[in-house]
This record gives sequence, structure tokens and C-alpha cells, in this order.
Amino acid sequence: MVLLSDRRWEGKVSLGGELCDAGAGSYPVVEPATGAELGRAGQACEDDVEEAVRRAVRAQREWAAKSHRDRAAVLRRAGDAWLSQAGEVQDWLVREAGSIRPKAEFETGFAANTCLDAAGLAGLPYGNLLRSTEPRLSMARRVPVGVVGVISPFNFPLILSIRAVAPALALGNAVVLKPDPRTAVCGGMSLASVFEEAGLPSGLLSVVPGGAAVGEAMLGNPAVQQVSFTGSTRVGRKVATIAAARLKRVHLELGGNSAMIVLDDVDPEAAASIGAWGSFNHQGQICMATGRHLVDARIAGDYVNRLAEHASRLAVGDPYISQVALGPLIDAAQRDLVHSRVTASVAAGARLVAGGSYEGLFYPATVLADVALDSPAYSEEVFGPVAPVVSFESLDQVVELASSGEYGLSLSIVTNDIEKALYLADRIPAGAVHINGATVDDEGNNPFGGVKSSGAGSRLGGVEANMEAFTELQWLTLSGRPASYPF
Ligand code: NAD
Repeated sequence: MVLLSDRRWEGKVSLGGELCDAGAGSYPVVEPATGAELGRAGQACEDDVEEAVRRAVRAQREWAAKSHRDRAAVLRRAGDAWLSQAGEVQDWLVREAGSIRPKAEFETGFAANTCLDAAGLAGLPYGNLLRSTEPRLSMARRVPVGVVGVISPFNFPLILSIRAVAPALALGNAVVLKPDPRTAVCGGMSLASVFEEAGLPSGLLSVVPGGAAVGEAMLGNPAVQQVSFTGSTRVGRKVATIAAARLKRVHLELGGNSAMIVLDDVDPEAAASIGAWGSFNHQGQICMATGRHLVDARIAGDYVNRLAEHASRLAVGDPYISQVALGPLIDAAQRDLVHSRVTASVAAGARLVAGGSYEGLFYPATVLADVALDSPAYSEEVFGPVAPVVSFESLDQVVELASSGEYGLSLSIVTNDIEKALYLADRIPAGAVHINGATVDDEGNNPFGGVKSSGAGSRLGGVEANMEAFTELQWLTLSGRPASYPF
């Protein structure tokens, strides 16, 4: 069995469940908190992808032909395996991805539930009978896509891999997974380990860690019928372009710069707690992080002070050795990007109220007030623990502010006035709206995805979205004898 602790995954790719020497050698798995090398991940090459796809094609037909009960049983066992391997996987989520322990526990719990929900998906009705003018049965039925490629990012490496892998398998597909190279173990090899324990037949799940070239090899392979991509809008555009040239189906879960609107009728302290969770959770490295705090001018000063108090209370440090609220950013490039956006915004006139300077990869919770609308901390996705606050005078103005920009992932509205909340929800484009909740929220049984440049293609999560995402709708007619035609 591919247990993470036995280290047999080092230098390997998993081709349909078999550990093989990685075609492009190995590279260090780095612990962001300490810089220590935790092991060496296998670096996949294009031939590895081709072999993974070959095995997937062979295995998928038999898997799709199995009874739904057999597929559901594997997914149920995978749900149990996440629990039996939870401690080990959580250690990797903490050390490799810089997660605090509760976030790592959330990821393994989410993974277990996603597999159990997917087990239920396998046995659901999968089509409709249609009216026909001919004496025949006419139906629309959902059939597996075939081989699905999954490309996932570093921030919630397990959730963002399993949310596609589990439903795709349950609905009769084979999967080739490319985790982010920085989280190849917790976002890739942990799935190989769990599905091996669950008894997934060989060929059905491959894990090929690597960067852009590996992802593009997957996109370029004609036997991969669909790619489910989660990552930045910049790379999403590239993925969409490559896929379009090959007429390949893709769904894209992309970046965000989500707004939280605070009206003047709420307790600023309660709102600041929601805002702190939205901006600082997992160091702000969340697609739905609150990137813009839009606060009624009558309470904005109070809100900023309280948010700064929350920020200054949040301990930052190595989550493997101490109980902290914020761990490290993923790497120096990400830290430099975050810091450049903070300093440029301060240079453009923003008032730094908390945080703003770093040590190593540890960036503290940072609050910026009076932020210019064209400064990068406000207008771009920061992907760091930064909360820019802007005040507004009227509902119409805040509709305009929240609707501007290229993204449309999540929207939070904090108010005791439900009529005003719904007025705003109806006017601001967003894939999710949370009234009196944070922009950061995810439950696996709900449809997740964004509008505008935050996503395209199907939603992920929940029965309807997963059926749509991982099957094709086929029209099938059935006549009892050969039909007669005028020719
Ligand atoms: P990224 O786009 O740089 O990388 C994401 C994945 O794409 C990685 O596995 C990477 O190796 C791969 N990749 C890079 N170039 C590729 C190419 N040319 N072809 C195919 N694959 C390629 O993302 P990141 O910056 O590491 O992650 C953070 C971004 O992801 C943020 O923008 C965040 O908002 C977004 N994100 C979105 C969601 C969502 O569900 N909407 C969830 C998490 C993160």
C-alpha cells in the first residue's frame, strides 16, 4: 500500500495505482515554514502522462460497466480510508502546504465526506424518458465522459483535488490527476494512497506531479475528453485556449477578489470577526478570500479599528510546532507578490493599520484603510492575509463598487435588514452569496463556482452539478424492430 509514511512514493509517479520511476526525475518537497526538505517528489514527464492515459482508457470501460453498487462500495471505502489515514495526511497538509492543524482537519474531513457523497451519486437515476412521435422508447441518459484530467492548485490541495476525483470516479470515469508541484504529496500521493486502500481497480487513478508542461501534455492528449482545472485566471485562460483548439471540454474554477459589504445597522465587532475570517484564513490564500471590505461610512472608522485588533491578535508561525492562527505563505514568490501589492497600495495613499512587514514566509494579518480603488491591494487578487477597507455612502454606490472588477466568485453581505441584503444580492454578480456569513465558505454538497473571470463551465459539488460536470448527456432511442424509411 502507498502509505505516505513509508516513503515509497519518493521519486515516483502513480500510474493507475502502480508506483513507477518518474520520467523527469525528482525534486525537493519543501516545508515552507522552515525551508527543510521533507522528501523528494517524482517529476512526471510527457511519457508518464501518455502511459497514465493509456492505462486509464483500458480500465475505464470495465469500470463503467460495473454495477453502481461496486463503484459506490469503493467510494465508501475511500471515505473510511481518509479517516484511517487522517493523521498522516494532516501532517503533510501542515508541513507541505503550511496549513494550521484545524484547516488540515477540515480538509481530511471534507475529503471523507466528498467520497461518501460520491458513493451516493453512483446509484442515482441518470436520465429521463422523452416523448417521441415514433413507436419507440426515447431517452436522455447520462454516460461517463471517459478519461477526466484534473489539475489542482496548492492552497487547499486535498479538497480541490478530491472534489473532482471522487465524483468523476463514482460516475464511471477514469482520472489522471496533476497536483501542484509544491503540494504533490498532500494533493496527489495522498489520493493514490487512499484509493489503493479502498481497492480501486488498477488503471483508474493516476497521479502525475509536475508543472505547466505536464498539465499541457494532459490537455494535448486526445484520449483525455475533459479537464477540470482549478487555479488562477491567468493560467485558466491559457488552459481554455489550448482546450478550445482541440475542442476539449473544460471546467474552470478560477481566481477571485470577493467583496464583503457591511451595512450600518450591524454590530461592528461581529462584522469585524466575519471580515477577519474572510481575509486571514489560511493566510488569505483562498480563492474566495475577502479581498475588498466595503463598509458604510458611518461605521467604517470603528470597523477598521476592530478589524485591526482582530489582526494583531492572530499569532503567526510554524503550525507544525506551535498553535498559531496563520502559518507561512507557500513560497518566497508568493510572499513578494503579496508584499509588493501592500507597499504599492500604501505608496498610493492607503493607511497601514496592522501588519505590513514580514519575517521569512510569515506574513502577518494586514489591514489597509482608505485604499484607493486603483491600488493593487484593492483591484487585484492578493492571495495573502490582507484586508483593504473602503467606505461607501449609499446602496447604489456599494452595488457599483462590489460589481466592478473582473471577478465574481463570492459575496458577503452583513446586515440585519434582509430586504436590503436581497436588494444587493440581486444586483451584484457572484457565484455564491452569503448573507451574514463570510465570503470564505465551502460545503461539498453545494454547487461551487464563479461568474465573470472567476470561472466557466460546470459548477462542482452537489448532485446536479456533479452529474453535469462528469457525464455527457446522450439521446438514446430503442425500437422493437427495424424502422421503415422512405428511402
Ligand atoms: P496556478 O494557476 O498558477 O496553478 C494551478 C495549477 O495549474 C497548478 O497545478 C499548476 O501547476 C498548473 N498549471 C500552471 N500552468 C499550467 C499550464 N500552462 N497548463 C496546465 N496547467 C498549468 O494557480 P496558483 O497561483 O498556484 O493558485 C492560486 C490561484 O488559484 C488563485 O488565483 C486562486 O484564486 C485560484 N483558486 C481558485 C479556486 C476556485 O475554486 N475557484 C480554488 C483555489 C484556488
